Amino acid sequence: MKCPVCLFQDTKVVDSRVAVNGFSIRRRRECLKCGFRFSTYEEIELLDLMIIKRDGRKEAYNKEKLVSGLKRSLEKRLVNEETFKKLVNAIERDLQALKNSEVLSSQIGKIIMKELKKVDKVAFIRFASVYESFEDLQVFQEKLNKLLKNKKK
Ligand SMILES: [Zn+2]
Repeated sequence: MKCPVCLFQDTKVVDSRVAVNGFSIRRRRECLKCGFRFSTYEEIELLDLMIIKRDGRKEAYNKEKLVSGLKRSLEKRLVNEETFKKLVNAIERDLQALKNSEVLSSQIGKIIMKELKKVDKVAFIRFASVYESFEDLQVFQEKLNKLLKNKKK
């Protein structure tokens, strides 16, 4: 398997473990060239990330949380399963591209907004309003105005 960071052709498996549900194997891999470590869960790549929340607490990255948050934003929007999967993958790809084992929750929020905006503007506004309203109302208002202006064109 290719290294997702340097694209070197060869990675070694440093650990293999059958998942709790018994249906899949988690493999810990290491790139032979750059030493980057990542995990695979069958064919799905797991992000081995710690999220630093606003109050400084750390929490392991949880894909299900991301998925449920996105679903909430996309409620009653016409986005098919394939587009949704691509959205999730794009967000994870961007997260991994940061090449950090620890990521600020605000960075994740920005990545989610960037990708969500490409898929559905309404969902983007929903997410942004929940996510940003507490941080900076004015910035959010400006973004909203910008979006509305673009619509009129
Ligand atoms: Zn590598």
